Amino acid sequence: MSIMRLGHVRLRVMDMEKALHHYTEVLGMLESGRDPQGRVYLRGWDEWDSYSLVLSLAERAGVDHIAFKLESDDDLDVFAARVAAAGREVRRHAAGELHDCGRSISFELPSGHTMFLYAEKRFVGKAVGDLNPHPWPDGLKGAAVHWLDHVMLMCPVDPEKGINTVAETTNFLVEVLGFYLGEQVMAGPDHSFQAASWLFRGSKPHDLALGGGPVAGLHHIAFFLDDWNAVLHGADVLGKHKVKIDVTPQRHGITRGQTTYFFDPSGNRCEMFGGMGYMAQPDMPTVTWHVEEIWRGIFFHEGEPKPDFLQVYT
Ligand code: FE
Repeated sequence: MSIMRLGHVRLRVMDMEKALHHYTEVLGMLESGRDPQGRVYLRGWDEWDSYSLVLSLAERAGVDHIAFKLESDDDLDVFAARVAAAGREVRRHAAGELHDCGRSISFELPSGHTMFLYAEKRFVGKAVGDLNPHPWPDGLKGAAVHWLDHVMLMCPVDPEKGINTVAETTNFLVEVLGFYLGEQVMAGPDHSFQAASWLFRGSKPHDLALGGGPVAGLHHIAFFLDDWNAVLHGADVLGKHKVKIDVTPQRHGITRGQTTYFFDPSGNRCEMFGGMGYMAQPDMPTVTWHVEEIWRGIFFHEGEPKPDFLQVYT
């Protein structure tokens, strides 16, 4: 019984045409379909399920829900019982309510974000196929991201009022859903306040990250690229398209990723994340960063505060 991976993120965008240009022409995602509500479904060329990103037209940017894929359909009932036993209301959805997916469940995380679990999604196959494949397909556009790698959510915290939904959500993900805690930032006079966390289910340093802020929201969605050269090339593509850059290519201390940050036309922060960082395994000890070193953890070379990076989000 287990969660395999981040399956998709449903993102709110305020201009579909501009959003589609960003995610298909600049990042190189492939369109898999549309639904009667006008949502557009996209995947990376190296993904085999029909979509990992849903663009949904809305009045304001942000995230509608995140969804994780389970190993088997039977797991849905097990997780529904575990989430209910943890005191959270579980909604059950028939096959097809999530586009191209089998039955699913959804519930609110302690942070207030909506999370779906599902086990089946329409198979379309990688763009290179699965018989004697080439290493990459012809005709890719822009940065040609491989797959949706991870998502970072902002969770309400107020240390003075004793509110910390980073810690509550982290505990829920670990205790109820079986995530592993890869890294964490600890704040407060005795470093007992969990200010951020990086959680994984597979063998990458994170599938889901949580940070603390005044209100719930989306910090960023991240797309995988092979390595540092691919991140540099990806940033070149951003420059060619005059995409608003947040952070030029850098090294993360936390997760060791090679990274560049930028915004989609609605203001949702995106990341290109190069390399696997390191191999994460269930018995790997959790890496702890003290908050005094947080900027070295986020941007390892400079280690300088960049407050907007934590304060601006959708
Ligand atoms: Fe990231």
